[in-house]
Amino acid sequence: MKKLLNLFLVLICFVSFAQEEMPKMVPGMTEIWDPEVTIITPGETPSDAPSDAIVLLGTEKAFGYEWTNGEGQEPEWDFENGVATVKRGTGIIKTKRSFKDFQLHLEWRTPAEVVSESQGRGNSGVFLQGIYEVQVLDNYNNRTYRNGQAGSVYKQHPPLVNACKAPGVWQTYDIIYTAPRFNDDGTYFTKPRITVIHNGVLVQNNVEVRGPTEYIGIPEYSVKPHGAGPIKLQDHGNPVSYRNIWIREL
Ligand code: MG
Repeated sequence: MKKLLNLFLVLICFVSFAQEEMPKMVPGMTEIWDPEVTIITPGETPSDAPSDAIVLLGTEKAFGYEWTNGEGQEPEWDFENGVATVKRGTGIIKTKRSFKDFQLHLEWRTPAEVVSESQGRGNSGVFLQGIYEVQVLDNYNNRTYRNGQAGSVYKQHPPLVNACKAPGVWQTYDIIYTAPRFNDDGTYFTKPRITVIHNGVLVQNNVEVRGPTEYIGIPEYSVKPHGAGPIKLQDHGNPVSYRNIWIREL
């Protein structure tokens, strides 16, 4: 009983001490003013590059200024008025620059003339850090496997919804990417994370990527440590076009 009374007295002392020492909170105590948040100029519309973006594909620069083919030579796709179109059989194009964490905007258009079905219709892809594919495909009235359709992280995460526009119509992707970090033994410390907004609709919500994109096989088996990497656009044999590509490093 005496012990209990002592404990009670100690508690009373502690509470009254805490009350005395705790300063009265005012709004300014939780306001942070410095350093001031960096001021940038946003684009006229959300599709236009803001002032702190690197424009990778537009009308101002020659095609080969930011892009090469798979061998590091001049890109071989068709390029006119800021629009790059897959030239079948010439292979991927990739950025000369490498990126880690970023916000990427790009616009793509599958051929107006519908040819083939499933994965054979308007297939291309955006490879983040050169190895993680966000699928580009004409899935307007075109079924395919759900984890391989437009807006999927290919063979890993199906899109939340099918937000495709018709073939021949320009579509947008806004992609937010967090690069992986690695342990000393080469395994992921944190996995890559991807958010995709397709035509203004969230289709990937900060999903965790299992490993590099594999057409055949298990992504986890091919994980290798890597640093910054390029943006690669896929030649899957269909004349898919791209325009207005810009990136903000985070
Ligand atoms: Mg593809």
